[in-house]
Amino acid sequence: MAMLISSLSFLVLAFAFFFCHVMSSGSYDYFQFVQQWPPTNCIVRTKCSKPRPLQIFTIHGLWPSNYSNPKKPSNCNGSKFEDRKVYPQLRKDLKKSWPDVESGNDTRFWEGEWNKHGRCSEQTLNQMQYFERSHAMWTSFNITEILKNASIVPHPTQTWTYSDIVSPIKTATKRTPLLRCKPDPAQPKNQRPQPKGQRPQPNSPPQSQLLHEVVFCYEFNALKQIDCNRTPGCINQVNISFQ
Ligand code: 5GP
Repeated sequence: MAMLISSLSFLVLAFAFFFCHVMSSGSYDYFQFVQQWPPTNCIVRTKCSKPRPLQIFTIHGLWPSNYSNPKKPSNCNGSKFEDRKVYPQLRKDLKKSWPDVESGNDTRFWEGEWNKHGRCSEQTLNQMQYFERSHAMWTSFNITEILKNASIVPHPTQTWTYSDIVSPIKTATKRTPLLRCKPDPAQPKNQRPQPKGQRPQPNSPPQSQLLHEVVFCYEFNALKQIDCNRTPGCINQVNISFQ
């Protein structure tokens, strides 16, 4: 009897330990590796430190995500960001691939991303591995070049369909990426051409939206790229402007 009780207590304790570990580090299904187009940050958020934003896709973050809610997990418990773990060569690499394009404070940007997202997958990638993997993902495919080779280059008025932009990236990576867009603040709200004599519909969609981010998805261990599930990141059927 005593043996049975002690075995049961051990099992309960082991389960409690496992449960606490999962809750503190966060559980996730896959990674979203998010790269952003800095000029769009500067258009949609008025503060940008440099007068001319970088003209290359740079890292926004590597986000452990759940299929049921890709915005989760976030802000998990776990080790806080430690600047000393960004050793000199890594710092040099990240300054190229992962700059703070809004206020120029790179370290604070990395700290925010690690504390909000990276800590949730600490059981897979510790802080150093998280930033090393992110930089390696950035170097594996050059989105700016892929789009340029498909004649998709920044233009003030030209627009593309969602699939025009996804296709060349899919061909190069053999995996389906996800696009994320932002509303274009330069566009009046009710843009859709109306039949003669009719007033604009209050909820008519805009004529175009700005390309902001390209997302690659990776399986749980952050090594193998997989297809992203299409979740709404851009408005369906609305052309995309790349400026
Ligand atoms: P998340 O916190 O989910 O990773 O991303 C959303 C936030 O990231 C937004 O508040 C946005 O302002 C911020 N963000 C995106 N790019 C940059 C950047 O280059 N620098 C800074 N400081 N924040 C950024």
